[in-house]
Amino acid sequence: AYVNGCYKNMRDASVNIEDRGFQFADGVYEVCEIRGGRIVDLPRHLGRLQHSLSELRIALPMALPALSVIMHEVVRRNRVNYGIVYLQITRGVARRDHGFPAASVPPSVVVSARSLNFAKNQNTAAHGIKVITYPENRWPRVDIKSVALLPNVLAKQAAREAGAYEAWYVDVDGFVTEGSSSNAWIITHDGVLVTRAATDAILSGITRAVLIDALATMQLTLEQRPFTPQEAIQAAEAFVTASSQIVMPVVMIDGKAIADGIPGRITRKLREEFHRFALFS
Ligand code: PLP
Repeated sequence: AYVNGCYKNMRDASVNIEDRGFQFADGVYEVCEIRGGRIVDLPRHLGRLQHSLSELRIALPMALPALSVIMHEVVRRNRVNYGIVYLQITRGVARRDHGFPAASVPPSVVVSARSLNFAKNQNTAAHGIKVITYPENRWPRVDIKSVALLPNVLAKQAAREAGAYEAWYVDVDGFVTEGSSSNAWIITHDGVLVTRAATDAILSGITRAVLIDALATMQLTLEQRPFTPQEAIQAAEAFVTASSQIVMPVVMIDGKAIADGIPGRITRKLREEFHRFALFS
């Protein structure tokens, strides 16, 4: 892993207990897919990183090309062919005090990478995943990819304990916002793809953005609007998007099967074709 200027073995890689990421969850992160040893859609991830940092007024600790070099180096040193690279930037190390530290305190930077089991993920996708619904209980700025993920941790655990893979947050108006670590999509019986518009109420997923660009080329229609769990259960298909899962079919919501309970045709096609539209570096 890379930790504040040094490459270390994972077991020796650690941060100061006064790091504001540890004390206050005062930091942001990115997760990119690695495929064929290359990082997928890195420029878009770095663009979102800049958004998260600037919204929280955390300084960019180095130029983006330097961050990119470090991320590639960590991937190379870990010999990851298929997996993820994780980047975290916090407001740095300072004596514990809620207010920002002096401007001279440098942000902390951590990068790690690990392999994922390709065959296992393909198998999960072949069967599709189950989703539960869960009350939206996060702060109203989830467009910022903050490391403050306690509500997401609890939602994901609730899903696991219910024998499901993901939890879809449902807002006070009864509409799905997104998953605990993914964006939520449905496909209507007319073949229209529906996903919530990227406002402060969802994380603007990179996989979501790449897929939206791809839809035009694939001559598929998109509606960016909220949908209810009921509409999702009655939809033709459903899926989630995230960098570590790409397009993952959803076959059941709150114990109710979607259509015939197997991954949908359009969803499978989107999963197969996704990387044609991705940028590798
Ligand atoms: N929404 C949330 C809450 C997430 O944590 C994630 C990714 O981890 C996503 C959406 C999907 O974003 P991306 O496609 O950039 O991985």
